[in-house]
Amino acid sequence: MYGQGIVKGLWITLKHLFQKDITQQYPEERPNLQKRFRGCLQFEFEKCIVCGMCVRSCPNDVLSMETAKDENSKKKKLLTYTINLQYCMFCNLCVENCPADCLHFNHNFELSQYKRDDIKIIYHRPESMDAVPDAGTPAEGPGEKANAPGEDDKKQKKIAAMYNAILKNPGKALSKILDQEEQLVIMAEILQKDPKKAEKIAELMLEDADKARKVAVAFVNKELKEREKSHKDQEGGK
Ligand code: SF4
Ligand code: SF4
Repeated sequence: MYGQGIVKGLWITLKHLFQKDITQQYPEERPNLQKRFRGCLQFEFEKCIVCGMCVRSCPNDVLSMETAKDENSKKKKLLTYTINLQYCMFCNLCVENCPADCLHFNHNFELSQYKRDDIKIIYHRPESMDAVPDAGTPAEGPGEKANAPGEDDKKQKKIAAMYNAILKNPGKALSKILDQEEQLVIMAEILQKDPKKAEKIAELMLEDADKARKVAVAFVNKELKEREKSHKDQEGGK
């Protein structure tokens, strides 16, 4: 029929006229961002164990670290951590690969700058990290029980960070030493039940990944044997 299209078009216009507005008056009105929205990448200096996983996992060379040898512990210490955000594609690989949970995205999406160099975020080593610890301060939590100053204290902090990473996200942290899904699940259960074992694995993962793998496999095999035995006992008792 002639004019059918016009009527249809007018009907759609009329329908939309009475609908609630969905346009947001940015910047006066702030957008309602979803929880997992990836804005600006943030780094927590104190938690970093200088493993370099983030740098290796970034496909765009966004991340870089400046390190130096610690005179006390003879280990690497982080001096600066740079995020060159202009090349970041917000893929989240660095966040997923960090065993100590140092990286995360916040909701700040207004990242444009007039100069390229201003887009870089540079974190400098906080002075508090080199302060000599107070020998009288009581230890707190696993991995911080040794009250020794200097190298021992730093080592304990790293172990504590790794320990927290294992308990918070065992699948991710343990995938560095175990590759079978079944082993990961069993190991996560073992470590959740036994904090001492979790601390031991955290320490080994930092010092000797190969040994950590062997110990983890031994834990899993022992657990499997115990489960099999208890299953047989139950069947025998029927
Ligand atoms: S989100 Fe992706 S591109 Fe951006 S820093 Fe992390 S790994 Fe690199
Ligand atoms: S992966 Fe995490 S802990 Fe390792 S160097 Fe990067 S930020 Fe630090």
